[in-house]
Amino acid sequence: MAKLSTPFSSNPISFRDRLQTPVQFVKGVGPKLAKLLERKGIRTVEDGLYFLPRSYEDRRHLKQISELQAGRKETGFGEILLSGMAFYQNRKRKVFEVLVSDGSGMIKLKWFHGHERYLKDRFQKGRRLIFSGEVRWFNYQKEIHHPDVEIVEGDIEKDYLNFKRIVPIYSETEGLYQRTLRRLMKTIVDEYSDELKSPIPKEILERQDLIDFSEAFRRVHFPPDGESIERLNLHRSDGHRRIIFDEFFFLELGLALKKRGVALEKGISFKTEGHLAKQFLHRLSFQLTHSQERTLSEIVTDMEKPHPMNRLIQGDVGSGKTVVALMAALRVVECGYQAAIMTPTEVLAEQHYLTVHRWVEPLGVKVALLTSNVKGLEREEIYRHIRSGEVQIVIGTHAVIQEQVEFHRLGLAIIDEQHKFGVVQRGLLKKKGENPDVLVMTATPIPRTLAMTLYGDLDISLIDELPPGRMPVTTKIFPESARNRVYRIVEEEVKKGRQAFLVYPLVEESEKLDLKNATQMAEHLQKEVFPSFRVGLLHGRMKSEEKEAIMMEFKERKIDLLVATTVIEVGIDIPNASVMVVEHAERFGLSQLHQLRGRIGRGNYPSQCILLAHYRSSEEARIRLQAMERTHDGFKIAEQDLELRGPGDFFGIRQSGLPDFRVAHILRDTSILIEARKEAFRLVQEDPHLEKPYHAGLKEALRQRWKGRLELATIG
Ligand code: ADP
Ligand code: MG
Repeated sequence: MAKLSTPFSSNPISFRDRLQTPVQFVKGVGPKLAKLLERKGIRTVEDGLYFLPRSYEDRRHLKQISELQAGRKETGFGEILLSGMAFYQNRKRKVFEVLVSDGSGMIKLKWFHGHERYLKDRFQKGRRLIFSGEVRWFNYQKEIHHPDVEIVEGDIEKDYLNFKRIVPIYSETEGLYQRTLRRLMKTIVDEYSDELKSPIPKEILERQDLIDFSEAFRRVHFPPDGESIERLNLHRSDGHRRIIFDEFFFLELGLALKKRGVALEKGISFKTEGHLAKQFLHRLSFQLTHSQERTLSEIVTDMEKPHPMNRLIQGDVGSGKTVVALMAALRVVECGYQAAIMTPTEVLAEQHYLTVHRWVEPLGVKVALLTSNVKGLEREEIYRHIRSGEVQIVIGTHAVIQEQVEFHRLGLAIIDEQHKFGVVQRGLLKKKGENPDVLVMTATPIPRTLAMTLYGDLDISLIDELPPGRMPVTTKIFPESARNRVYRIVEEEVKKGRQAFLVYPLVEESEKLDLKNATQMAEHLQKEVFPSFRVGLLHGRMKSEEKEAIMMEFKERKIDLLVATTVIEVGIDIPNASVMVVEHAERFGLSQLHQLRGRIGRGNYPSQCILLAHYRSSEEARIRLQAMERTHDGFKIAEQDLELRGPGDFFGIRQSGLPDFRVAHILRDTSILIEARKEAFRLVQEDPHLEKPYHAGLKEALRQRWKGRLELATIG
């Protein structure tokens, strides 16, 4: 990059990639404005181009105030006659009011909250402004509450940027308003939009009816007159579609190449009769469900191939994924290789360990647990046994992908709860062997759109049925004030001979406060609420043996009521437990609650999941939790979670290593995603190495968009 002598020189300095020019070098941008822009995430010209309007206003023909209709979103223009604070309801309610006239009529603009000084300052008598919002009638007068407003200066008849057109409305910040933003965007779009490149082959553009990329940005920022305002506001204009398509296309192209690349790599072909797996199944005393059978046969087919498997098992809680994955692991072990199971938390690792080693050690298979709790000599010894191959199945957290861990012959990597790992970590685990097979399990049903982006490079198996005989679980929300009623429900069930869980949130495993809560709660329940019951406590800080001991006691009904943190989220099977009370349910994600309630309803009794919520402060929390009462379908719940919390928060996709979308929104734009994926996969099918001359720009575009996050070794 060029060395800059005067940082705010008005002479544009040439950047090799002009799109990377810092905004402060754009005409009319000084250090003060640059700082404000930075607050909006705009550092470079490219950031600016991608800072799309949040909505649009139709100012092609401004109506007179007398023409504005109540009940509609309207835009008007006028001069301020009066402004100031008004008081209603015996001075209890303050409202800032601005009376505007254009000669044809008057309208009142009202603000029910907002900074008085700031409002007074901005809306001074005599100023002219443009306003828009929903018009209503009140006391024989038109008014708009919290309108979008813009102070107008100069001659509007000559202002073709802010008037006489469909006007973009940008997201503002204090001190940075529409007119400034619009002026800046106009400059950036005019001077830099030609630099934007999206080398999608012409054939695809034609098939998908897509316009030129630079033109798309010009139209999205400053729509031409004929554009439909509705489509613009829905982000469905041709310009929007083109930009969104670009984002999805290059993501999917990367995933398609990755998938294709893996399919071409040399892997291990596991050919075995599967005696160990059969023995294992025999000991389990149940039959696999059809879905499990199908998934297993898909896995076995993959494993026999001389290329690495890359498969996702998706299925609801308790659908029996672990069992299937373990059968795959046993096939690998039988062929003389090792398997690793990696989980996102220690608690999960320990839970898996407890189940797995109980299941397979009788078959002579050696299992080791590797988490950060395993220390010193014990850890060294485990390393040694992994290196020698004595340990055949390793279960652990990130510890498993640490440098010191060397496998003798890693044949299969099983990753549980993939969403916490992402594409990048998956790659690290793979490197521990020579192209081992990879099996990803997610106990959380992933909505289709997310699966297409997060797991777009994997083959997917779906376990879509639960083992027979599961009893329904009813879910009910109770407010904190109904705590005693909840205790009575628990009491009744225990008196009938059932057992109960009481779950405490433990947001971070290290949160001491939460831990204290759970511990104190156990004591309180034992001493003051249920003196005749046996109350137990289980949390993530306990040693493995302690946990196992408590679980055994619970299983043998030596404990009636188990107070636990989310340790019990997975792997615990207590058919006699028929009630679960979740404390502070509002602090859990929906999918996590769904996981939790999968712990009950496993025996012959109808079960109840009680969500104790402290949601006085949050209506949103209540709406969220109500989804739990309505449905037991994990996919629906996951979709709801995704919708309410947005893709960014949904299991922390940010950490997944995928490129962020700047414009696209996977829920809103699903149909474009599907098309982009289809086209990307078709292209890779036809030209797996992107060698055709007319695909020349694609590699570079991919590199830029993925910034090294995708290993594109196979395309060179
Ligand atoms: P997941 O990992 O999908 O949540 P698990 O593999 O842990 O589910 O299985 C949940 C419980 O159901 C376990 O106790 C397991 O032993 C049991 N299970 C699994 N498959 C079957 C089946 N086909 N029939 C009966 N029980 C099963
Ligand atoms: Mg599981």
